[in-house]
Amino acid sequence: NTGILIIGAGGVSRVATTKCAMNINTFEKITLASRTISKCEAIASDIKKNQNVVINVASVDADNVPSLVKLIEEVKPRVVLNVALPYQDLTIMDACTQTGVDYVDTANYEHPDEAKFEYKEQWAKQEQFEKANVKALLGSGFDPGVTGVFCAYAQQNLFDEINYIDIMDCNAGDHGYPFATNFNPEINLREVSSNGRYWEEGKWIETKPLEIRVEHDYPEVGVKPSYLLYHEELESLCKNIKGLKRIRFFMTFGDAYIQHMNCLQNVGMLGIKEVEHKGQKIIPIEFLATLLPDPASLGPRTVGKTNIGCIIEGIKDGKKKKVYIYNICDHQECYKETGAQAVSYTTGVPAMIGTKMIYQGIWDGKGVFNIEEFDAKPFMDELMTQGLPWTILDLPVD
Ligand code: NDP
Repeated sequence: NTGILIIGAGGVSRVATTKCAMNINTFEKITLASRTISKCEAIASDIKKNQNVVINVASVDADNVPSLVKLIEEVKPRVVLNVALPYQDLTIMDACTQTGVDYVDTANYEHPDEAKFEYKEQWAKQEQFEKANVKALLGSGFDPGVTGVFCAYAQQNLFDEINYIDIMDCNAGDHGYPFATNFNPEINLREVSSNGRYWEEGKWIETKPLEIRVEHDYPEVGVKPSYLLYHEELESLCKNIKGLKRIRFFMTFGDAYIQHMNCLQNVGMLGIKEVEHKGQKIIPIEFLATLLPDPASLGPRTVGKTNIGCIIEGIKDGKKKKVYIYNICDHQECYKETGAQAVSYTTGVPAMIGTKMIYQGIWDGKGVFNIEEFDAKPFMDELMTQGLPWTILDLPVD
């Protein structure tokens, strides 16, 4: 088999496919498939114009394993990159083991009727992947993704032991709308309106949604209110980082965003269960997603920067040590390069890099892996040259 098959044609896919096209010497042949073929064609046509690379397109229902298997057998790729929705993770994984092809994604499986954000069902496929002699790389976006690589890099190169990690995610972009989400509204609003949770001394501690707020100074962005959320990489990092005592995740939200979200929550518009409206069954959050601006349309109007990174504290040579590893991304620069804003960009670039690590055999093995289980250095090197350069700051230890 040669080439890669990318599934999904939203904002993240636009960036990942463009970046794969920029690395066509590595990937050899690229096929882009999604539910709506016109979205694949639009991405392919921009790439032909800007990068002069041909992207093959196809339509597929990624909820349906036999359709996926048929497509994979026709395309014969070496790796499938899943940038559809988290609902499709398990079906695409099954199609990969049935056809003997490696798998990469950027978000953990979710059932459309429950918001759980856990790796359980994907980790349960360990044996299935081993038997099929293929591998799955889970969570190769920014968070999860680069945040795990930053932690792995720190563990492998900077510390003897890591005790505390705070993942700090700031989007200081302004799109000018009173309310919009930067990526899929269903996924985004489910995540933010759920209870918060962090891990300390082997236990999960639950908080009410947005209960814990800190003011954090993001380099090149400034001080922003940041809220503790549960985020899926906490589940794998608390297992894979040795010596860890606490890991937390914080994300910035403006006051207007929170006011809108609380109001929508209070009136039931974030509901994920079906309700009947004038004889028709609708899911409130799906209807809300129809009303909100399409995240893909935010690109041209979003200005400002993102800063996502990890503050890591531990021991080196018997002494306390603390570092801040982060990346800064500018919405307009991302848009100029790929036609998408920084949230899609910061996910799509690492999706390409993870796929490259697997495609080139730099990351090898059989089974299901989280990103921090591999050697971080080659991925960190790629980040520097593919558009997501990082900085390491030494912080004073208190
Ligand atoms: P979008 O909603 O913009 O795009 C999703 C794409 O998947 C659409 O093209 C959609 O098709 C397609 N799709 C949905 N269902 C199916 C199906 N059954 N069969 C085939 N195609 C389907 O999402 P984003 O691009 O914003 O996000 C993509 C992924 O990236 C998500 O899983 C998201 O959770 C993840 N993500 C990860 C981040 C990270 O840092 N790790 C950050 C941000 C996002 P159609 O257009 O027809 O609906």
